[in-house]
Amino acid sequence: MQIKDLALPVVAAKADWLPGTHWMGFTPRDGSGPAREQCRTIVHRQSAAGYVIEYVTQQFGEPNPGFEDDPDYLAQKERHSKAAGCFVALHRLRPSARALPEILGEKDFERLQDVWSEGTKRYRWTVAFPIIESYAIIDPPLANSVLSSQSMKSLFGHPSGTLRPLGDEERGMIADLHIEPQATINIWLGIEDEAKMAEMSQLNAALVKQIGQDIDAGMLEGLSEEQKVMVRKRAALLAQRFASRRAKTGKLTCDSCGFDPQSLTAPTSVSPRSLLDVHHMNPLEEGVRYTTEADFCLVCPNCHRFMHRLAATLSDPGEKARALRPARKSEN
Ligand SMILES: [Zn+2]
Ligand SMILES: [Zn+2]
Repeated sequence: MQIKDLALPVVAAKADWLPGTHWMGFTPRDGSGPAREQCRTIVHRQSAAGYVIEYVTQQFGEPNPGFEDDPDYLAQKERHSKAAGCFVALHRLRPSARALPEILGEKDFERLQDVWSEGTKRYRWTVAFPIIESYAIIDPPLANSVLSSQSMKSLFGHPSGTLRPLGDEERGMIADLHIEPQATINIWLGIEDEAKMAEMSQLNAALVKQIGQDIDAGMLEGLSEEQKVMVRKRAALLAQRFASRRAKTGKLTCDSCGFDPQSLTAPTSVSPRSLLDVHHMNPLEEGVRYTTEADFCLVCPNCHRFMHRLAATLSDPGEKARALRPARKSEN
């Protein structure tokens, strides 16, 4: 797939020495609570609406004295040299930061500060966002072969402690890059958070039931009972957000056949929305990938029933997954 196939836009870029796999760290201006909070708020605002593209800098940092020959440092330097100057990945960050020692463990955190802290300022990368969804860029290209020199300069020509927002022009330049999903061990941090949010939300009981059936019909092999419960709760929350967004935008037609319930309900008091179902298109990917509102669609009961009946007749996972997607998914 290509970057342009993603449901959400790439909203910002991050310059790093090393490709991150589990978390993305930012260094606040000082070690105080308010400085951390300010940094966290800015990065959250910059990254909430989509993906962050990761750029590996040409330079690699100098470690603190005594670590120049450290094997870990030398291994990192070697890894860096292979990716220097390239766009390597896209990441979706968890909506809120976690304390870095909590992600890394105290020991690894202290070690990181031993090697990289500036003197006694032991707060490097302490605003840490777990990566909950990630795509590797295939054959990572040099950033300056993808972006214009002007975009390179405006994005990376200055130091930044946060993210570098992308404009439509830059989004156009990276749109054709090929990507493939890569595993993220922190996906469950995001799922867990949102399952908790679901518990605290007023969810529509009919919707919870409908989505529960979609989930159970599709997947959940290999997940623990506890994980299954979290996936179901979170899916209901996403479904509800999806449904209210669709209600607001007013596009209440079937995403598969185009049926417009108003053709039946117009002169009556029956609500058009009550004639459409919310359907989870990718239940097989729950727990594997960080699913979003873009994984749901609105379909009429006939199309909905047909999709599930068809999927039940198929044994090939790819064909099954295709059967669960609407024939003609309209813009939502
Ligand atoms: Zn339909
Ligand atoms: Zn369904």
